[in-house]
Amino acid sequence: MRPIRPGDRGPAVTEIRAVLTGLDLLSKATGPHSDEFDPATERAVRAFQQSRGLSVDGRVGAETWRALDAARWRLGARTLYHAVPVPLTGEDVRSLQERLLEMGYDTGRADAIYGIRTSRAVAQFQREVGLVPDGTCGPHTMGALRRLGRKVVGGRPQWLRESDAIRQSGPTLVGRTVVIDPGHGGTDPGVVVADGPLRWTEADLMHDLASRLEGRLAAAGVRVQLTRGPSPETCLPDIDRAQLANSLGADVFISLHTDGHANPEAEGVATYHYGTDNGVTSATGERLAGLVQREIVARTGLRDCRTHAKAWDLLRITRMPAVRVEVGYLTSPTDRERLIAPRFRDKLVEAMVAAVQRMYLPIERDVPTGSIDVSELRAAVAAGTVVD
Ligand SMILES: [Zn+2]
Repeated sequence: MRPIRPGDRGPAVTEIRAVLTGLDLLSKATGPHSDEFDPATERAVRAFQQSRGLSVDGRVGAETWRALDAARWRLGARTLYHAVPVPLTGEDVRSLQERLLEMGYDTGRADAIYGIRTSRAVAQFQREVGLVPDGTCGPHTMGALRRLGRKVVGGRPQWLRESDAIRQSGPTLVGRTVVIDPGHGGTDPGVVVADGPLRWTEADLMHDLASRLEGRLAAAGVRVQLTRGPSPETCLPDIDRAQLANSLGADVFISLHTDGHANPEAEGVATYHYGTDNGVTSATGERLAGLVQREIVARTGLRDCRTHAKAWDLLRITRMPAVRVEVGYLTSPTDRERLIAPRFRDKLVEAMVAAVQRMYLPIERDVPTGSIDVSELRAAVAAGTVVD
């Protein structure tokens, strides 16, 4: 075939330009349906060739055409598998490889070829999220990738180990270690509201909540450790709290706070997991925070102030899935009234136990938010079955 070259016109050029535009190599403003191989098209072809390791001549010969054709595929548009003797190639394969590499799986170089190594990496991923490890990337695997791997995990391989450990250890809570961190304490009372009926401080209230949570988790066979007692002499810095959790080899870390604001109308629950502004996040921390957030909102009716990524010491230094929960505003009359009711704190506890349990259900067997009855769940786990 004669290479398509600068100055050519025709439907083939329109097609080439469409693929290059889809790859962001050609500006959408340059005439989306033009059939002219203009200088901008030539520049885009060259950039494409360079990025694919092809010889850069600004023309579309057989090799460049094949590469452009492969570049059309968007991840999720087709099922990917290890085909022999001619392997599948395409931009979707490259996206998959990049995503797996980011998550710490060894696919080899992201070369856009679905070879045996990519297939093995997919199978390993599948095993870890509880899917059939067949090495084929179909809708279920794609869904799991979307839910777990959307954000970057690179640079912090322990996050991968976190999810490894979670998947390998099964759904039971028995024998796990959860560190609960009631915020503040000692010389630091946290948020204080002068006119509170019982003059609750954030520090006291969160210690009470932590004790209730400790009781429920311990009843489910969890080893629980609090980072402080009810009235410590000094306030332990967050770094020390995080290091305590690390030294105990905790499986989950939950830090409990209430929020406060000068505006009494500010109210609601928010959760925080480790992450930075440029999209780096702890995938398991984000999952834990999301579960805690959704369970609390569903079970208590607190306003949903959502889940956020923060690079705070507490979240950065902890090596296990870690969440900081701000269970309402002590400065909001509405939230305060709820929080000082022991019954309401029990609801919060129920929500957090359900969230911790859901962390350990394989994604495929996860249950709708607000649906776990924790006592039934314990019975099911004890009987060796999982609530579906
Ligand atoms: Zn606080």
